[in-house]
Amino acid sequence: MIDSVVIVGGGTAGWMTASYLKAAFGDRLGVTLVESEQVSRIGVGEATFSTVRHFFDYLGLDESEWLPQCAGGYKLGIRFENWRAPGHHFYHPFERLRSVDGFSLADWWLRIGDHSRPFDRQCFITSALCEAKSSPRLMDGSMFSTELDGPLGRSTLEEQRAQFPYAYHFDADLVAKFLAKYSTDRGVRHVTDDVVEVGQDERGWLSHVTTKEHGRIEGDLFVDCTGFRGLLINKTLDETFESFQDVLPNNRAVALRVPREEATEMNPYTTATAMEAGWIWTIPLFRRNGNGYVYSDEYITPDEAEQTLRNFAAPGRDDLEANHIRMRIGRNQRSWVKNCVAIGLSSAFVEPLESTGIFFIQHGIEQLVKHFPDKRWDPRLAADYNDRVAHVVDGVKEFLVLHYAAAARDDTPYWKEAKVRAMPEGLKERLASARSHLLDEESIYPRYHGFESYSWNAMLMGLGSEPERPRPALAHIDPVGAEREFARLKTEADQMVAALPSCYDYLASLHA
Ligand code: FAD
Repeated sequence: MIDSVVIVGGGTAGWMTASYLKAAFGDRLGVTLVESEQVSRIGVGEATFSTVRHFFDYLGLDESEWLPQCAGGYKLGIRFENWRAPGHHFYHPFERLRSVDGFSLADWWLRIGDHSRPFDRQCFITSALCEAKSSPRLMDGSMFSTELDGPLGRSTLEEQRAQFPYAYHFDADLVAKFLAKYSTDRGVRHVTDDVVEVGQDERGWLSHVTTKEHGRIEGDLFVDCTGFRGLLINKTLDETFESFQDVLPNNRAVALRVPREEATEMNPYTTATAMEAGWIWTIPLFRRNGNGYVYSDEYITPDEAEQTLRNFAAPGRDDLEANHIRMRIGRNQRSWVKNCVAIGLSSAFVEPLESTGIFFIQHGIEQLVKHFPDKRWDPRLAADYNDRVAHVVDGVKEFLVLHYAAAARDDTPYWKEAKVRAMPEGLKERLASARSHLLDEESIYPRYHGFESYSWNAMLMGLGSEPERPRPALAHIDPVGAEREFARLKTEADQMVAALPSCYDYLASLHA
């Protein structure tokens, strides 16, 4: 039996891992987390994916308990601005497409939808809630989609059946602090110190880490949560990192934390605004925005990117400190090598366009618990783990490349290049199919990667890459059922907008 796990790194990845291992295994496993005060956390990573709900429920935490302590807000989806053309916007919501007579509402929209109005606002309820800046919860705390209300218990991503309708925005440092308290209250040993050496035995397996002040810390299994450094997995075990830069060229970001003390409005979505050489995120937390420009330094310099971001997000606030980040885009060939598992930025990172960093962490931790080894170190456990992690990351990579390849915008060298750049082979085929008909579960990236066909279609339609014509089969089906569904969806959306409080009002009561 494995007795002790040593986690190196106390960012979001480190503390999510520590708290989840404690929730899963309790006192049957010793967990030590070492984090440096000298090496700061990445300081970004504040928009999440709807499945993060499973993580907090697994820990036994209701959002009313942790969200206010983390300056949190709601995220019903992502609003994409200017990706198709200047002034155009659409939403990628957390909402599955309804289906009528075996065809998705998006298929029906192509045949009978009102093409003078945007696709997303006719096919999803959530888009109306975003436009109205609504909270997904009523003032009494109940959720608009009652079938999904209530705790999910100790469920995992694999057990996810329903599409939870929202995710969260939160302050990354406050989440780390919150989870640190959760973990240490449950027995995680917390060592604040610098790891200065990583010890290996004669087989090359990790035996201990040496810290500046606390000496040697030994363990059976080591979790590398040291961020882009990959101190254990890359620097010590020399695992190869496969770059995705050939298909995802953004390699830098600059971020600002912009106070919003006086605001009495709040967007219930992340905004991704296309810029000349990349895109800017706007993540509304309760009293501030997180903003950042993700770009490729082939097209714009860091100084230009910072100035563009300042003009966009914080004019006149030259006092705010900018955080320049060099991004390592890609994944380790294997995230589990010998007795070391990398989780977080040390394992993999694609750019933050669909907020998948924390989702990768959650997936990695769940798979670690599922494939947890004993001292026989059965290599098939590690092999299966590596296979699943690789497929999730590769699927998200394809989905992100689609964002650039399918975007109608082509007014600058950056956007022109995005149309002719290399792309993963599988994606090329999928995009060719999508010119003929919308994608279904069989025709998106085939392995689990978090995104369903509705996401792929919401992006294709929103970005301006619609199929050339509706599915021919629909010409043989009476559209009356679909017409009724479009009308029902609009009525439901109108009723919800009328009933739900604003996102700000609901959160103000929660934070109070
Ligand atoms: P870090 O935060 O870098 O933590 C590394 C830890 O290792 C620190 O505690 C450090 O002290 C410690 N450490 C390093 N060296 C040593 C040593 N020698 N001894 C001891 N300790 C050491 N994800 C999302 O889900 N949503 C987003 O919106 C999002 N936006 C992002 C935007 C950008 C620009 C980037 C780069 C990433 C974004 N991510 C996002 C990803 C997200 O930020 C990370 O997945 C998350 O913060 C986890 O980081 P980490 O814990 O792996 O690394």
